[in-house]
Amino acid sequence: MNRDQLREQLKFYRDLGVDEIYVRQAISSPVTLQQGVTVASAIPSLAPEGDTLLKIRQDIGDDCRRCRLCEARSKIVFGSGNEESRLVFVGEGPGADEDAQGLPFVGRAGQLLTQMIENTASKEGIPIRRPDVYICNVVKCRPPENRTPLPDEMEICGQFLFRQLMAIRPKAICAMGSTAAKALLGTKEGVTKLRGKWHKWRDIQVMVTFHPSYLLRPYNQDAKREAWEDLKKVLHFVYD
Ligand code: URA
Repeated sequence: MNRDQLREQLKFYRDLGVDEIYVRQAISSPVTLQQGVTVASAIPSLAPEGDTLLKIRQDIGDDCRRCRLCEARSKIVFGSGNEESRLVFVGEGPGADEDAQGLPFVGRAGQLLTQMIENTASKEGIPIRRPDVYICNVVKCRPPENRTPLPDEMEICGQFLFRQLMAIRPKAICAMGSTAAKALLGTKEGVTKLRGKWHKWRDIQVMVTFHPSYLLRPYNQDAKREAWEDLKKVLHFVYD
């Protein structure tokens, strides 16, 4: 990287609200450890020391205009739940209901997610409810027509997701759908290949599973069963 590129890179981080960078490592491409297990390695540490969710939310600001998603959004959807949770669920980005309320997973997919968490936990004898976990998305503003977030939108907003995850430091992350998997693992591999196995984001265990919106489609009954299996695995790993 030459001086101009470095200056641009630092400006980019400053615009994201990051004013200190602690570890300077080259970003290398994801490493495949064994078949189907991918680790996004050597990601530079960007989180300010003592970072908190409140500080991250303040750094995003009330009227974030860092990417084009600001143009059509109503509310920024930061995240909700237990800020000290041992388990974080990561989705793709807000839909219409989330955009209107400013809260993640409150529409149909959110209702399914709540049911899945609470019914699985209850059946498995794990005493948690939805408010006991933390839920957020890769991008904090609704993509128009619910389209998949574009790579630059994921890159810009992903830095805030990474700070959220580092501030919470959960025991495990459940990445729901291919956008969350791509953001955390740096892989283009599909959910069907990635799901059901443990991966890592930095030193935190990541389980990839299907996005609840995908499970709402009536012809995806097998995926629904598999998603319950994935969730059971995560809940036992975190709470046993
Ligand atoms: N889909 C997502 O990925 N996130 C939400 O918050 C709602 C629907």
